[in-house]
Amino acid sequence: MTQDTCYLWEVALSRDASFDGHFVYAVRSTGIYCQPSCPSRRPRQSQVVFFSGPEEARSAGYRACQRCRPDHPGGDAELVSRARRYIDGHIECHGALPTLAQITEASEVGVHVLRRVFKQETGLTPMQYARGRRLGRFKTTLRDRANVADALYDAGYGSSSRAYETAGEQLGMTPSSYRKGGSGAVIRYVVTGSALGEMLVAGTASGICAVKMGDDAEALIGELRDEFPAADIRRVESNDHDRGFEELRNWTSVILGSLDGGRLDIDLPVDVRATVFQWRVWRKLQAIPSGETRTYQQLAEDLGQPTASRAVGQACAANPVALVIPCHRAVRKDGNSGGYRWGRQRKEALIEVERRE
Ligand SMILES: [Zn+2]
Repeated sequence: MTQDTCYLWEVALSRDASFDGHFVYAVRSTGIYCQPSCPSRRPRQSQVVFFSGPEEARSAGYRACQRCRPDHPGGDAELVSRARRYIDGHIECHGALPTLAQITEASEVGVHVLRRVFKQETGLTPMQYARGRRLGRFKTTLRDRANVADALYDAGYGSSSRAYETAGEQLGMTPSSYRKGGSGAVIRYVVTGSALGEMLVAGTASGICAVKMGDDAEALIGELRDEFPAADIRRVESNDHDRGFEELRNWTSVILGSLDGGRLDIDLPVDVRATVFQWRVWRKLQAIPSGETRTYQQLAEDLGQPTASRAVGQACAANPVALVIPCHRAVRKDGNSGGYRWGRQRKEALIEVERRE
C-alpha cells in the first residue's frame, strides 16, 4: 500500500463520517463498496481498493452497500424525506394509499433498508406513516365539512364503510362523533389529590384521553367538559364497580405511583387525537429515559427536522395526557425549563423528582 492508501484505510477503520463523500472503499471478495463511516465489519486490508467516488467504483464493477448506501450521500434524513415526499404526493394526487413496493421503488433503496431507516428516523413504518397521513387529511377535511361522505371521499378511503371501521379504530370515536366534540363517546374521570396538587384522569373504553393537574378540581373538570362538549362525561367515585371504572382506577394508580417515585416509565393505552407530527414528537418524548431531559432543538434534530424546534414545542404543549406522554422532559436550549401546560413549577418539580430517582 502507498502512503495515501494507508491513510485512507486508517480513516475507514476509524469509521469517521466526516470523510463520507470524499472517497469510497470497495471489497474485492464481496464486490461491494462502502462509505468510510459504514458500520459493517472491516475486511482484511489486502481485500480493499479505494475509489474517489461511487461512479468510479461502479464502473469498476462494484455494487453499492445496502447498509451505508454510498450512492445516496444525503444519508438517512434525505432518504426518509424522499420517501415522505412520495407518500404525501401520492395521497394528495391519487387520494389513496401507495403500496410498500411503490414507496420502495420511489426511494431507490431495498425494502429492508427503507423500513429500518424510516422507523429509526420517524418511529413509524412507511405504511404506518402513510395511514397516518391519510387519517390526518381525513380529520382536517372532516372539521371543514358538514358532509362526512365527502370527507371520506376526499381523504381517499375506498369505501365509506371501510373508512368508518379504520378511522373509528384509530380515533376511538366514529368520525361524526369526533366532529361533534365526542358525541356518543362515554368518558369517565376521577379527580384525586397528588403530590403535585389536584389531578384529573379521564378515559374512554380504549384508553386515557386526559391527564390534567392544577390547584382547583372544578376548573379541571370544566376543561374536560370544554374539550368534549358532546360526550357523555361521568364522574366515578371509589364505590363504583362498573368495568370502565376498574380500568380507570388501575390507570390512575399507575400514574400516582409514578409521581410517588415508584415506576417512572408509564406505559398505558391512550385515546387521544393527534396529527402524525404530534405523534412522532410524543413517541420521541416517551423514549427519553426518566431522569433525563432533551431540548426542543435536540428532539427536532432527532426527528430529522432540525428547523422544526418551534413546532416540536407546540406539539409538546398540545399534549393532553400529562406524565403518560412525558412532555416535562422537553426543555429549552438555554437551560430554562420552558412552558408547561400544567404550570412551570410542576414541570420543574417533576424533572427534579426524576433526577433524584
Ligand atoms: Zn457499507
